[in-house]
Amino acid sequence: MKTIGLLGGMSWESTLTYYTRINTGIRDALGGLHSAKIILYSVEFSAIERLQNLGQWDKAGEQLADAARKIESAGADCLLICTNTMHKVAEEVEAAVSIPLLHIADATALAIKNRGINRIGLLGTRFTMEDDFYRGRLEKKFDIEVCIPEDEDRAMVHRVIYDELCCGIISDDSRNAFLHVVENLARKGAQGVILGCTEISLLIGSKDTSIPLFDTTAIHADAAVHFALSPCR
Ligand code: GLU
Repeated sequence: MKTIGLLGGMSWESTLTYYTRINTGIRDALGGLHSAKIILYSVEFSAIERLQNLGQWDKAGEQLADAARKIESAGADCLLICTNTMHKVAEEVEAAVSIPLLHIADATALAIKNRGINRIGLLGTRFTMEDDFYRGRLEKKFDIEVCIPEDEDRAMVHRVIYDELCCGIISDDSRNAFLHVVENLARKGAQGVILGCTEISLLIGSKDTSIPLFDTTAIHADAAVHFALSPCR
């Protein structure tokens, strides 16, 4: 079995989900006492969030690249950045190591394509919803049309992610507000919605909505399990 490298802590609330889901996936596949081989580097998120807000992505990228090098030298065979937003610096992180980076948007795009969907809604931080690094990748590399919520809804989603979900606060009001945004996206023609922030699945799930949701945390974690169990190259 290969060793999975997790660059997490962004936030640790969702890194917990990665840890649980990857270990569950390995146990489901191999049975008994089998568990995943994982190297986890968990960052101090407030320092990263500060750099995001200052727009100092280069600095944030350097810090994540440094953490990625440590993960590689500790023996990981692949690397996952356990947040959608910080894929804004994925190229820089990828360039710092020689192990493969399992890109969260690529894994998600394949799941969307497998469902035969080509028009998708996107929820996430305002960086993920508004900047090109995520939407652009889905559109250019995978030919998936992406629609995002209106201004006011984007502001609400962004605020709930940082002020509630990343702080471990799960509220019914926010759940209802998110479900409302999903239904608005469905009305705009989205055939499904990407939960493009690794904490959103703590709040809503596919059982709550009329269209399929693509949970990036689950999809990304499952890609890691698949990698760990695939034959050595
Ligand atoms: N975990 C979130 C994401 O998937 C947001 C936290 C962050 O800014 O990295 O985008």
